[in-house]
Amino acid sequence: MTTKAYGAHAADKPLQSIDIERRAPGPQDVQIDIAYCGVCHSDLHTARSEWGGTLYPCVPGHEIVGHVSAVGSEVSGFKVGDTVGVGCLVGSCQHCAACDEGLEQYCENGFVGTYNGPTADAPGHTLGGYSQCIVVDKKFVLKIRHSESQLAAVAPLLCAGITTYSPLRHWKVGPGSKVGVVGIGGLGHMGVKLAHAMGAHVVAFTTSDNKRRAALDLGADEVVVSRNADEMKAHANSFDFILNTVAASHSLDAFTSLLKRDGTMVLVGVPEHPHPSPSVANLIFKRRNIAGSLIGGIAETQEMLDFCADKGIVSDIEMIPAQKIDEAYDRMVKGDVKYRFVIDNASLAK
Ligand SMILES: [Zn+2]
Ligand SMILES: [Zn+2]
Repeated sequence: MTTKAYGAHAADKPLQSIDIERRAPGPQDVQIDIAYCGVCHSDLHTARSEWGGTLYPCVPGHEIVGHVSAVGSEVSGFKVGDTVGVGCLVGSCQHCAACDEGLEQYCENGFVGTYNGPTADAPGHTLGGYSQCIVVDKKFVLKIRHSESQLAAVAPLLCAGITTYSPLRHWKVGPGSKVGVVGIGGLGHMGVKLAHAMGAHVVAFTTSDNKRRAALDLGADEVVVSRNADEMKAHANSFDFILNTVAASHSLDAFTSLLKRDGTMVLVGVPEHPHPSPSVANLIFKRRNIAGSLIGGIAETQEMLDFCADKGIVSDIEMIPAQKIDEAYDRMVKGDVKYRFVIDNASLAK
């Protein structure tokens, strides 16, 4: 089936309207009419091949929400009209130790990304959510219980939401935890909302004083301007957990020294250039940890969506037509978005 999409033909070309083919649903497949797709930094890095290895044409988008328009003959649990989502994964081997534990994102044989991943479908790599329609194995389709009016703002939960939810859960953040969130952007604003909803005392770290009010509005209990040494010092040795969402290269020591004994700082942003090597003494003397975390598995993504539906949590978004995507990328690079762009996929028909 031919469907309209927005994609790039080369790293130095703007995204444009293109026609792509979707496979007819196989027995285990769910076909989805996409209503909205969030715009993630990974989309921009991939479309512009900033990480290398991008296959063209490239259709980004892995924060997908929409409605089921057809199901395969062996699909139960989804029916036409259901509101569903697709995140960063559309396949994994299903038989390694990671997959057995429901941690498909750590599949030892390599997960299949929603775009730029290997597939038998034309053109040989997966094409993402900047499109009218997608066909996905039912194991990688999520149920959405938010109201229809919230749907656009649900889209970013599929990447930004699960990327922050998974480490908060893994390190058992809850009532009594003191949690720091570094960087209040697409990921960080979700980290603040989720940690707050889990009952933690949340401290938002930002580089600019004028983001203070906005961070409090998101649910932060306190805001620290990380450039202010006195403000930082006041929180030394006090955090159970710090969620660091900043992708730009920066000194980690300023934050590890804020951790309690046995505290952990988890990194979820991938810097273009490595962070300066952290002070080992800073870790040894208080048995502190620096860790990393990648999105979340399918079961945990469903748990996150249900948690957000129960708590009324959505992302703060700015809706755009597909035709404005390059402009949106440029604004994202400057940090000029509160806090996530979401494409109205109805605009693809124009
Ligand atoms: Zn993403
Ligand atoms: Zn696997």
